[in-house]
Amino acid sequence: MKRVKYAFASILFLFTAVTFAQETMTKEKEPGHYNQSKFKQLYEEFSTPNTYRSASGAPGPDYYQQQADYVMDIRLDDKNAKLFGEETITYTNNSPDDLEYLWVQLDQNVRAKDSKAALKNGSGISLGDSPEKFVGNFMTEPFDGGFNIDYVKDDSGKALPYTINFTMMRVDLPTPLKSGDKYAFKIKWNYNIPDHTINRARSGYEYFAEDGNRAYVIAQFFPRMAVYNDVEGWQNHQFWGNGEFALPFGDYEVNITVPADHILDGTGVLQNRKEVYSKEMMARYEKAKKSYDKPVIIVSQAEAEAAEKGFSDKAKTWKLKAENVRDFGFATSRKFIWDMQAVKLGNRDVMAVSMYPKEGNPLWEEYSTKAVAHTLKSYSSHTFDYPYPKAISVHAKRQGMEYPMICWNYGRPNKDGSYSDRTKYGMISVIIHEVGHNFFPMIVNSDERQWGWMDEGLDTFMQYMAEQEFGEAYPEAIAPNAKYPSRRGDPAKIVPYMSGDQSTIAPIMSNPENVFQLGPNAYGKPATALNILRETVMGRELFDHAFKTYSHRWKFKHPTPEDFFRTMEDASAVDLDWYWRGWFYTTDYVDMAVKDIKKYYVSDQPNKKMKAYLAERGIPESNLPPMVYLEEYDDAGMVSPELKNNLPSETSKTLKEFMMDNMTAAERAAIKEPKYFYEVTYNSPGGLPMPLIVEYTYADGSVKNVTYPPEIWRKNSKEVSMVISSTSELKGIQIDPKMETADIDTTNNSWPKKEQESDFDKMKEGIKGE
Ligand SMILES: [Zn+2]
Repeated sequence: MKRVKYAFASILFLFTAVTFAQETMTKEKEPGHYNQSKFKQLYEEFSTPNTYRSASGAPGPDYYQQQADYVMDIRLDDKNAKLFGEETITYTNNSPDDLEYLWVQLDQNVRAKDSKAALKNGSGISLGDSPEKFVGNFMTEPFDGGFNIDYVKDDSGKALPYTINFTMMRVDLPTPLKSGDKYAFKIKWNYNIPDHTINRARSGYEYFAEDGNRAYVIAQFFPRMAVYNDVEGWQNHQFWGNGEFALPFGDYEVNITVPADHILDGTGVLQNRKEVYSKEMMARYEKAKKSYDKPVIIVSQAEAEAAEKGFSDKAKTWKLKAENVRDFGFATSRKFIWDMQAVKLGNRDVMAVSMYPKEGNPLWEEYSTKAVAHTLKSYSSHTFDYPYPKAISVHAKRQGMEYPMICWNYGRPNKDGSYSDRTKYGMISVIIHEVGHNFFPMIVNSDERQWGWMDEGLDTFMQYMAEQEFGEAYPEAIAPNAKYPSRRGDPAKIVPYMSGDQSTIAPIMSNPENVFQLGPNAYGKPATALNILRETVMGRELFDHAFKTYSHRWKFKHPTPEDFFRTMEDASAVDLDWYWRGWFYTTDYVDMAVKDIKKYYVSDQPNKKMKAYLAERGIPESNLPPMVYLEEYDDAGMVSPELKNNLPSETSKTLKEFMMDNMTAAERAAIKEPKYFYEVTYNSPGGLPMPLIVEYTYADGSVKNVTYPPEIWRKNSKEVSMVISSTSELKGIQIDPKMETADIDTTNNSWPKKEQESDFDKMKEGIKGE
């Protein structure tokens, strides 16, 4: 009795010791390894929750946001491409703070003659420039596109002192604006509208030499209030060109005077339709309001072509009113063709609208409004019903830019009207993307100046889902038996970026001005990360509920990244700190591999591992109680042939006796009897933990899929071993067989090692989307 007791005590000790030894060994090899674990919670990175923003990720009890209401009179001088405006801003201070001054954004100053925007990047001789770029860089004076401010006055007409710092204007108040109070002031301004096709402005005009007309897409055109909140105070980080906009919500009343033969549409509801529409247009509009399946032409191509020749000296004022929007944009030209249809969302009707010059046809009349309507339905189903009365897609060369209820989109056919698949899909995709921006960031109003991914990444993720659904809804619009060819979203598509040169990759959690490759950084990678989160990590049910919760919590509010990260966990009970840390805070990549596989058989004799352990400590083998061992096969086949592949209960006397003594006949009859035992070692040279998705194939043709949770990497992010058993001989191992994880090197994903070509073929298939 005594002997046995001693043996058990020592075995318990030795198991603990073995486990401990393994952990310390790993620690010694990689100092600080444990502290770098992706599974460490994000307390240091997240700001502490408070009464404005709750730890759950929801707005807190003291959450507030400022309001900026605008009344504006705008006049377009079409001959000189100049825009004039007078605005009254009524600013409501809902913050608990008294404000001594207000910050107003003057975005057009990025194009002022003395703007430093062009000087902020170092340069080298490029591989080559387009003629436009070369002329712009070396042969012309900089365009004079900054704001000219005529005055800043208070409500009674008294001049207010102001200071302009580049794209920001500080208006000093005579007395601080108390918490809860409103302040109204007026600004009069004008600026030269840029040709957006030359200098890649987000708004401006395109000039059509053949008919002498311009098509205007106008935005960032008025001095706009900056955001003041509990996170940044004033968000007055300058507009350098890449970091987009941070804007408070408000109500807008905008009267826009343009040549009488122009067609105009913009943010808000038209207040004087009867004054600006012809009788014919009114009749068509009434029809469009009841057309749910296809658009109705409001201004036809023939009418637009006739208007192109006009150049009226008369003017017309279009009056628009918008409630609870964060911005205002409009498009105007005598070249526009116009079509509209109704979209049913819940019990409301929303108008899907397109405006395009003849240069956009035949592509635009076929697909634009269809894509708008589809986007509203798809995004609404994943978030909340689109709350605005309309969504407009405007054709503009090389543009893809979003504003509340209106956006500019590229996609121009060749002169003869023919177009490539690339042009068609590019156009449908950009429309889905830009209309989709109504949800993020126009309604779920994140700070684009600081976090490009919060709108671009979420929107590109939603775009991917909407594109796939478009392919299902309109199979005739895409290639037979194919999926919609989404450019971003599929895990395999982000591999070239994530496996690229680390010195030109920044974490997603970076300011858009400070990243190297804005496309993959703010669009592709976060979209892919969310797609993988939905399909592979959380599953659709948990993800969709959490994503909807975030959308509802923050619609018509200003969320931060933490509000998103926290809500996704709060609503799902999935710890995602490791995922945010890996995908959003680092530039690590996924690379999982089969490192090694060893085959074992059952034996009653102490195995090599045990023998070595006992020898090292001078413990005699006789101290051991009867045990069952898994012994490794070696190349010489040291196991006796009769032991090979026998059932464990036949091979091991110890096991047989245990079962006879401890189990009923029924239990013995129901026992599993695996014949094959393996130790498989997986490693992860990439450092980004992911679920380890493995497909095991056996000699009898059976296939077993096992998904080990990402937590498998929590103690050792580099290597993990699994012991598996089976009744049939293991013939193959494939990691991530469906290419769900954006694994950058699939040549090490299989055992036995497969030819690289077969993986490559698989990737091609993935891209084709079969
Ligand atoms: Zn975008």
